Amino acid sequence: MHKQQSIIEESLTALLKDESFLPDLQEQTRDQAFKSLVAILSTPNHIHKSFLRVALENGMIIRVPAFRVQHNDTVGPYKGGIRFHESVNEDEVANLAKLMTLKNALHELPFGGAKGGVVINPKDYSNKELNLICKKYVQYFDDILGPDKDIPAPDVGTGEREMDWMMGEFKGNHPGTEYRGSFTGKSIVNGGSLGRRQATGKGVYFTFRYMMHDFLHKNKQWLSETDNRFAKTALAHADQPLTMAVQGFGNLGSVAALEAYHCNYLQNKIVAVSDQNVMLYNESGLDIPALVKHAEANDGDLPRTEEELGKSKLTAQIKDRDDLLELDVDVLMLAALEDQIHEGNVKDIKAKLIIEGANSPITEEADKYLADRGILIVPDILANAGGVIVSYFEWVQGRETQFMDEDEVYERLYDKLRHTMDTIYPQFFGDPFPLRQNCYIHTVMKISTIMYRQGNLY
Ligand code: GLU
Repeated sequence: MHKQQSIIEESLTALLKDESFLPDLQEQTRDQAFKSLVAILSTPNHIHKSFLRVALENGMIIRVPAFRVQHNDTVGPYKGGIRFHESVNEDEVANLAKLMTLKNALHELPFGGAKGGVVINPKDYSNKELNLICKKYVQYFDDILGPDKDIPAPDVGTGEREMDWMMGEFKGNHPGTEYRGSFTGKSIVNGGSLGRRQATGKGVYFTFRYMMHDFLHKNKQWLSETDNRFAKTALAHADQPLTMAVQGFGNLGSVAALEAYHCNYLQNKIVAVSDQNVMLYNESGLDIPALVKHAEANDGDLPRTEEELGKSKLTAQIKDRDDLLELDVDVLMLAALEDQIHEGNVKDIKAKLIIEGANSPITEEADKYLADRGILIVPDILANAGGVIVSYFEWVQGRETQFMDEDEVYERLYDKLRHTMDTIYPQFFGDPFPLRQNCYIHTVMKISTIMYRQGNLY
């Protein structure tokens, strides 16, 4: 069973003990309501699967497995990214779609949850072939996608270019319909939102900064009086320079690292970053802007050799990328793929604060082990929602054809994240559940209440 599933069940158990949750459940006992809600939330509404027929440049024709899982549309049209990765599979996409349902409702976005996947390594295909794969995806899933049905966005292995291509295909197939809202994460010239590309990384760092600075400062008194083990962890790390290691240096990790680097009042020292090839380590702190520059000029890769480091005037030790998680640092920022911290390495984790930039980077067993030890984990659905929040702004802006400037986008993004945190944190630091559990209780409560009020729980 996936981690989300057991946490959903635990959340419902906690919620149903409270009489104020669905107070006038008349036709169902609370036990039946539990079973119904578990059944609804654990199963996606639809799993769409196709084998895209793609003609390669060398004349070969291949079949590429592709998915779109629509998990739940209680709150609004389905929404979630499309992932291009060679290890993508149906189960993983279904699980990520469920996370989108939970994430969108947590932040009060008017969307349900979905996710897509295409089983390819994009690096193995030419631009022309990737363009064709994108167009085929839209053609094969034509009847289920659209601005009021299901709105995809970028995810691992996709970005502005792919969303532009897909929207172009959608527009061609639906003349006369509003098309800007069919995909988000597009380029600016194509109706994208300023700040969308930076949004996930900025949001990830903002959630951490808000907890460790603003919220702690405002609430220091009562936090120091509670017995809560997570409050103790947070307070023990407040008002001091923190060492940080960042796993993953793509669009998410690099932007979040840059934010941390420039945040002078928190004085973070990023001592390690890694990508799929290497880890770079420097005890006195890495020059993140120089690393970002290097990655931009080198297909997203960090320097791998002494020579490359020298060329970018960087001082760092080159180490094994897998050792990053076990470094003796205060903060781990996970910005790569899922299941990175698992039973095999969890006992070697030394960080006391973990931020989940990636979706589901910690397995269920590892999550329990860390929470039992008072490690404070800022979970994916809270920390990495910046992307989908600005996707929402993009969707609205595209439909109104009125666009915000970049500062306004960030301001509204931070307002939204702040609002969610201000709702969750007082409860979290007051009861014994880990933060993930609190977020789930909150979002499951919202989705169930809406479902109930729409008459869909009978
Ligand atoms: N793929 C991103 C996520 O996992 C963004 C989704 C979106 O913008 O719809 O949240």
